[in-house]
Amino acid sequence: MTRFESVAEAIGGTPLIRLTKTGLRPRIYVKPEWYNPGGSVKDRAALSMLRAAEADGLLRPGGTVVETTSGNTGIGLALYAAHLGYRSVIFTSSSISKEKRDLLVAHGAELRLVDAFVPKSHPDSLKSVAERFVASTPGAWLANQYDNPANPAAHVASTGPEIWADTEGAVTHFVATVGTGGTISGTGRYLKGISGGRVRVIGADPATSSYSGGDGSQKFIEGAGHFVHPLADEDVWPQSLDLSVIDAYESVTDAEAIATIRDVARSEGLLAGGSSGVALTAAFRLAATLTEEDTVVVLLPDSGRAYLSTYYNDDWLLANGFRAESGAVVGDLAAP
Ligand code: PMP
Repeated sequence: MTRFESVAEAIGGTPLIRLTKTGLRPRIYVKPEWYNPGGSVKDRAALSMLRAAEADGLLRPGGTVVETTSGNTGIGLALYAAHLGYRSVIFTSSSISKEKRDLLVAHGAELRLVDAFVPKSHPDSLKSVAERFVASTPGAWLANQYDNPANPAAHVASTGPEIWADTEGAVTHFVATVGTGGTISGTGRYLKGISGGRVRVIGADPATSSYSGGDGSQKFIEGAGHFVHPLADEDVWPQSLDLSVIDAYESVTDAEAIATIRDVARSEGLLAGGSSGVALTAAFRLAATLTEEDTVVVLLPDSGRAYLSTYYNDDWLLANGFRAESGAVVGDLAAP
């Protein structure tokens, strides 16, 4: 279908695009999720959580949608809250970029900036402040993507079936990053189920993320991985993440991820975001060990347009300690 009666119906149905320049033996297809109306994979989870909250009676006409993110989920929630007629209030850190702030406001979200460098359990944390707002605001509902089962369910219902149908069941490996875990858990669960356990699911993870054994210190790549607040007394993983679905992790440095997306933009003509670079790097490493019989699907969460002033910008790279040769394919890009 290419005609939709509302923006909500236009979510999903993103294409698979084959990479033609890798020189690797398997077929490698990317699934660019920036084809969604809000520009990322999180549109699927945002609408799924809103619909589930409506069905459960947690969100009623006149209600308020609340979340604690400045990222793609916030944009998706603000967009579909606007479409469905809800007020949206996004609690976010004051370090949010101007572009993200403007996007949220463009969709009518109210931004509440919380300037708190404290762990989640602290009363001044984003989470605590948002929970107090919800408790004191009649009709308010906290989406809570990290622990909301409607987040992975969106991918069982749509992302997984799309990949299975579009590869005509030929997919052998699925590679995705792990943020809340919604994408990899839901898609992986579906693909493993329908293939009788044949499809292998690989979690592509930033090198410092605690999911794959890193020290939990946050570097640059946004959206992917799990990072522990320096003052937190424990590392709590989201309930949206189903660990049993992930067969292996590939750990990728920020420098590798950035070099990959810059290379892919020039070789394949696909402008992917930073977490896509983590997924692509992991997929290429994996594909080097596979054969012509294999079909690898790599999920790309968002586009490089949001990162033109960072990962695609030589001055930014140099200012942040990376080395890059302007105009060259950035094979020699490396952290200091
Ligand atoms: N990359 C980006 C850019 C994201 O915004 C997200 C969402 N946090 C992810 C990757 C990871 O997706 P998920 O939360 O479904 O694991």
